[in-house]
Amino acid sequence: MKDADDNQHGGDPLHPETIAVTGGRRPFDNHGFVNPPVYHASTVLYPTAADQVAHRNRYSYGRRGTPTSEALETVLMELEGPLCAGVALVPSGLAAISTAILAVVSAGDHILVSDSAYRPTRTFCDTVLARLGVTTTYYDPLIGAGIAGLFLPNTRAVFCEAPGSQSFDMQDIPAIAKAAHAKGLVVLADNTWATPVFCRPLELGVDLVIQAGTKYIGGHSDLMLGTISANEKTHKALMNTVHTLGLCVGPDDMFLAQRGVRTMPVRLARHQESGLAVARWLKARPEVLRVLHPALEDDPGHAIWKRDFTGASGLFSVVLKPVPEAAVHALLDTLKLFGMGFSWGGYESLAIVFDCADYRTATPWAPGGPTLRLHIGLENVDDLTADLERGFAALNAAAQT
Ligand SMILES: *Cc1c(COP(=O)(O)O)cnc(C)c1O
Repeated sequence: MKDADDNQHGGDPLHPETIAVTGGRRPFDNHGFVNPPVYHASTVLYPTAADQVAHRNRYSYGRRGTPTSEALETVLMELEGPLCAGVALVPSGLAAISTAILAVVSAGDHILVSDSAYRPTRTFCDTVLARLGVTTTYYDPLIGAGIAGLFLPNTRAVFCEAPGSQSFDMQDIPAIAKAAHAKGLVVLADNTWATPVFCRPLELGVDLVIQAGTKYIGGHSDLMLGTISANEKTHKALMNTVHTLGLCVGPDDMFLAQRGVRTMPVRLARHQESGLAVARWLKARPEVLRVLHPALEDDPGHAIWKRDFTGASGLFSVVLKPVPEAAVHALLDTLKLFGMGFSWGGYESLAIVFDCADYRTATPWAPGGPTLRLHIGLENVDDLTADLERGFAALNAAAQT
């Protein structure tokens, strides 16, 4: 029998489910045990002084990589597809965003960031980047090829996120990448929502792809992780930055992430199916104005989603018809199966209230009513809609008082 991971050895490209199961595993390098071992490590010893002086060792220091980090990087790299030159692991999704941006900008540069990017991405640009002499312009996520009209002589990079955080607007990433590359700019994209299972941004022209591994890679709400996938053009700059900043991830979190990856495509298939079922159920409710979910046929971003993505995860938003805040709170406080908390991507359903009005700067945020973001977990859909039904009853009762 061969080792599990022969994915790099030619033949037909494998599907994501298969890569997730086989990638990064070499049982016969490890006494036949199915899973790679977890190395808790800092110092790596050299057998002789000559080896130490010449740095003659496959590994040099815990921070610089171990068999545990390599195993996780390998499976993630294979999921990204053949254009991926390497994956860096960092301690959180936000660290992946800041590190990827720092890998490409210098003092005096200008960067374009999508207005619906994850809010802490904006905070990083407005504080740390600003302090280092890098300026940011936020652009309308729907701008497409029109992005070229915002290029300044010192523009260095374009940051995308599709669908956008909270509003789930889709971006024409291939059009943006084409315009950016014509000017020699670097394109970054936060792909946390789709994961490489449902979208491979490197194949849409992106140079650096970010994922909050905290979400669907982990999948169990029990770890923090960020990943940055680079193409040939950006790989060296990325690794230099990661190593210079001294970023690395603890072995137990990498182990949990690797365990998460094995079931990620299967979990995502269910998140997609249940998410769409709940989205359609919500659309039919009299209390709902709009559901923001690009996989719904009448969503404004549907055509782009269909062209560039192969699936949808379980996160979307819903706009309620105007009701007092107390009625929205009554809905949420009645829910038993939806927890209220930040982050998402675990096996459990979540609901939060949000409002983007006070921080979006390039596009107005006026959805027409209170907005909730839902993460649809792996519970039974009928149980979830029954829970929401009770929530709407409480909302209606509170709205009438
Ligand atoms: C959660 C999230 C992040 C940040 O990930 P952390 O691991 O929580 O730091 C980045 N981007 C998007 C789109 C996210 O939803």
